[in-house]
Amino acid sequence: MTAPLPPFPMHVSVDEARTLLAALLPDRRTETLPLAQVAGRTLAGDLRALVSHPSATESALDGIAAREADTLGATPDAPARLRVIGESRAGAAFTGTVGAGECVRIYTGAPLPPGADAICPVEQLSDDGPDGVLLRRPASPGDVRHEGGDFRAGEVVMTAGLPLTAPRLALAAALGHPQVPVLAPLRVALLSTGDEVVPPGQPLTAGQVYDSNSVGLRAMLIEAGCEVVPLGHAPDSPEALQAAIDRAGGADALLTSGGVSMGRYDFMRDLLIEQGRVSFWKVRMRPGGPAILGGWNGLPVFGLPGNPVSSLVVFHVIVRPALTGQPPQTLRLRAATPFRALPDKTAFWRASIQDGRVSDYGQQGSGILRSLSEAGALVIVPEGRPVAAGDDVDVILL
Ligand code: AMP
Ligand code: MG
Repeated sequence: MTAPLPPFPMHVSVDEARTLLAALLPDRRTETLPLAQVAGRTLAGDLRALVSHPSATESALDGIAAREADTLGATPDAPARLRVIGESRAGAAFTGTVGAGECVRIYTGAPLPPGADAICPVEQLSDDGPDGVLLRRPASPGDVRHEGGDFRAGEVVMTAGLPLTAPRLALAAALGHPQVPVLAPLRVALLSTGDEVVPPGQPLTAGQVYDSNSVGLRAMLIEAGCEVVPLGHAPDSPEALQAAIDRAGGADALLTSGGVSMGRYDFMRDLLIEQGRVSFWKVRMRPGGPAILGGWNGLPVFGLPGNPVSSLVVFHVIVRPALTGQPPQTLRLRAATPFRALPDKTAFWRASIQDGRVSDYGQQGSGILRSLSEAGALVIVPEGRPVAAGDDVDVILL
């Protein structure tokens, strides 16, 4: 006789787990906020340039603006002489026209006057009487910045979905936008579970462990652009867990750690299976295998394993990509040591990077937080495909 199949998928792949979690998350709201408040957010609409940049053809240097043809052949021994007829400053343009044999003093960002087509930098000039200047080399059209050379008014310059890094924020301002549409952060409730788990700062008795998951996961949620609703800690009792889950009411999702494996006191697993709606239980990965995804009265609940390394690695490869829509960034590097494969799981082994090559690093147990914090990277070893020294591997930077 064969055992009855569970009414939900088990042993899903990492990619399936990510897709199933993303499917449970609510659609993101959009809000429009001042640029000063959106660092790190995701742009929620395309941005057009409201102006051209540069807004006028201008000088890229301090020097003089002249006609290139008047300066061709100028050298230190045979300098070109031009008559200075005025000045163009950033914010105060020269109003006349530059004629043959004439020039104006010009400064970076100042409009190029009509008639002039080239710049000679101040380092190549010397004064020649009250209204004359000598050029030790020809004026160059390459030192003119043309109107719209960076972007033109009306052009779509930034597209929805871009993370707003510092250069992109600066660009949005340069395009003329005081405020921009961004995705509203997801509100994610966070709960640690386990009778043995206590907050740091309290005395610890043998068999207890400080709650590192709340701290690590909270930092990762914030870094992923989420608002965190801290639910603290609940002991291993179905009633206490239910009460804690109910406190997550208004959140978009709940992340828990602990109590989802095969043990007798793993009540998070029981609650979701018996009273919730399970999307999957167990992922074909190590560390992190026992993770469970379900729903509780419409609230998506992702139960991470309690082992600190498991919970952080599951966050890295499943939760963050589902929350942000951005797959984990990987590099292809040469392995300096072999990495073993597991027959039926993707392995994420802790590794260090030296001289562009990755080496197996420290203890790989799911409870060994120290090696995770010291290792710079995770090497991804696909199911059943061991890595030999000298092979190229996909690496996630931590
Ligand atoms: P569990 O997933 O509940 O079976 O827990 C697996 C291991 O992770 C046990 O050794 C727990 O003591 C440990 N653990 C569970 N929750 C936490 C936590 N919040 N911080 C640190 N370790 C934890
Ligand atoms: Mg436990």
